[in-house]
Amino acid sequence: MALKASFFSGMKDKTLPCRIRECKNTWVWTGEEQVRWMRDNKTGDPQRLCASCYVKYNEFSDQEVSCAREECTHTWVWTKNAQVAAAKRGKTTPPPGRLCEACAEAAKDIESREVPCRVRGCANTWTLSGKEILASDGAPPSKMCDECYEKYRTLKNRKVECRISICDNHWEWTRGMQLEAFAKGKEGPPRRMCDRCSEIFAELEPIEIPCRVNSCNHTWTWQKFSQVEAKLKGEEAPGRMCDRCHEIYKDLEDREVSCRVSGCDNKWNWSRWMQLEGRLKGKSKTPRRMCTECQGKIEQFQPKEVLCKHDGCEKTWTWAPEMQLSSVLRGFGAEKPPVRMCDDCRDYMERAETVRLTCDGCGKEIVWTKEHQLHVELGTWTKPSLCSDCIARK
Ligand SMILES: [Zn+2]
Ligand SMILES: [Zn+2]
Ligand SMILES: [Zn+2]
Ligand SMILES: [Zn+2]
Ligand SMILES: [Zn+2]
Ligand SMILES: [Zn+2]
Ligand SMILES: [Zn+2]
Ligand SMILES: [Zn+2]
Repeated sequence: MALKASFFSGMKDKTLPCRIRECKNTWVWTGEEQVRWMRDNKTGDPQRLCASCYVKYNEFSDQEVSCAREECTHTWVWTKNAQVAAAKRGKTTPPPGRLCEACAEAAKDIESREVPCRVRGCANTWTLSGKEILASDGAPPSKMCDECYEKYRTLKNRKVECRISICDNHWEWTRGMQLEAFAKGKEGPPRRMCDRCSEIFAELEPIEIPCRVNSCNHTWTWQKFSQVEAKLKGEEAPGRMCDRCHEIYKDLEDREVSCRVSGCDNKWNWSRWMQLEGRLKGKSKTPRRMCTECQGKIEQFQPKEVLCKHDGCEKTWTWAPEMQLSSVLRGFGAEKPPVRMCDDCRDYMERAETVRLTCDGCGKEIVWTKEHQLHVELGTWTKPSLCSDCIARK
């Protein structure tokens, strides 16, 4: 008897983990129990439940659950043990996708298959096991590959600013959307509108607006995005060039062009805008224009009628203000007009042709110049009938 007592006292109580893997609790294996365990020739440590799991365990009863395969009428048993473990993970329903024993056995002969990751843009696959193939009846579940899943767990939904620059609202960039973007190799959130702006956007259509260049009859397309922006600001369509005009305009540069008044060294600015308008009107030449200084000065001159330079002609020609200004700039003043013929005389000179006459005296040819013809026309001279030789001989 003394021996037995000392034997018991030698065994110390042991603290062992609960047999539910998900449980962190422990239970105590008394020395006495350990002795009995050894006396029964049992080895290793017993697998037991902690006190709290034990309570749970007794509340549960084994459950018959239908086989995951739709056309199978068999069941599998969701044990009390498995239910305790599930409860530790916060689950109260049997795990989905489990097969009955017969089906599970049959699945062993089905080869696993690689299925594309469900994340669009990801080229990876995940392995669909024989069991899952059987359970899914040819419609495999859509799942992420391991890599995507790992990434997914690290992601958080993010609030992103509306792409309409003047809008302060945000939209939610979900984890799923982020994952897809990463799979496609895109960095950062896409440009998107908030819900309010999307709603406005949905009701809009692109509008054709006339080009702001007056002489252009083309239009430009007012896109929906900038319409949203204008709506938020309460603004009308902006004044803009059509594509064609913009294309021309962007290659143009302001140019300094010499004043058209001869004798003036100033330049005037031929703006891109003016060049564009000229181009649209089909003008290719640089316009002749006065500098601003000349434009100011010219107002002091009035057109003057000046008598034709030809004797006998009573017509006048107009000494235009610009010509007077030019005369002043060249140092000749505006008092003495240049010597010039009237328009009629000029027309006559342009129309007339040199005439060959025959000398009444010697029969030689006489050249009758245009100028002489004009003087005869004006009545100051007479039409020649003798050559210069015959005149001299007289
Ligand atoms: Zn436990
Ligand atoms: Zn089954
Ligand atoms: Zn993936
Ligand atoms: Zn917005
Ligand atoms: Zn245009
Ligand atoms: Zn000038
Ligand atoms: Zn004249
Ligand atoms: Zn003659």
